[in-house]
Amino acid sequence: MFSLLRLLLVIPRFLGRLLWNVIWSFVQLVMVIFLLWWGMTWYVNNSTSELANQLSNLMSNVSLFFRLDKGNLNESLQNLATDFYANQEGTRWSSNQAKVYITSSQPELVSAYQTALANWNATGVFTFQLVETPEQADIVAGDAAEVNSQAAGLAETKMNSLTNRIVAAKVTLNTYYLLNSDYGYDFERLVNTAEHELGHAIGLAHNDTDVSVMQSSGSYYGIQEVDVTKVRELYAQ
Ligand SMILES: [Zn+2]
Repeated sequence: MFSLLRLLLVIPRFLGRLLWNVIWSFVQLVMVIFLLWWGMTWYVNNSTSELANQLSNLMSNVSLFFRLDKGNLNESLQNLATDFYANQEGTRWSSNQAKVYITSSQPELVSAYQTALANWNATGVFTFQLVETPEQADIVAGDAAEVNSQAAGLAETKMNSLTNRIVAAKVTLNTYYLLNSDYGYDFERLVNTAEHELGHAIGLAHNDTDVSVMQSSGSYYGIQEVDVTKVRELYAQ
C-alpha cells in the first residue's frame, strides 16, 4: 500500500522532469542554431573568401526552402534571386574595357547577352568588345542548367589580390529558370539578368536600396542612371 502511494508520487515527478528536459533541450537547440546562423551571417557579410560565397549560397537555399514550405511559392518564383554574388569593395578591371566571348548555344541567351553588352556600351562608362575565341577573352559568358541552384545567374571573378584588380571573369545564365516558362522570364528580364551578371563582372555589388539593375532578386530593372554613376565612380578611382 505504502509503496504504491510512493509510486504514484514518483511517476508524475518523473514525467515532469522528462518534459522539462525535452523543453530545455529544445530551447538549447534553438539557441545553438540561432548562434550558428548569426555567426555564419556575420562571416558571410565580412568575408570575400570562396567559402563565404558558398556559405552564402547555402544559407539562401535554406531560407528559400523554409519560405517555399510556407506556400509562398509564387512570390519566391517572382523574386527568384538573381545570384548570391559577394564582391569586395573597389574591385575592378585595370581599365574600363574588357573582351567578351559568348559561349552560350541558346539563341535566346546569345541574343540577351548581345543586347546587354550593347546596353552597357551605350552608357559610355564601360566598353565590352566581342571576341571570336575564349582564349582572347577577359570575360566568358555562358549558360548552364543548374537545377540545384536557387539563382537565375552566376558571376565569378578572379582577382589579383595584390592589386585588387579583376583579371578574369565568368558569367552564367541558368537555363533551368530562364528558359522555363513557369518562371515568367520574358526577353527583357533575360537581358536584365545578363546586364546584372555583367555588372558583377565589371565590379558592381548588389544594390537593394535603389531601382537598379543590381537588385539581388527579380531582375525587373535594366541599367539605371545610379548603376552608370557607380561604374563611372569605380573607374575614376
Ligand atoms: Zn547579383
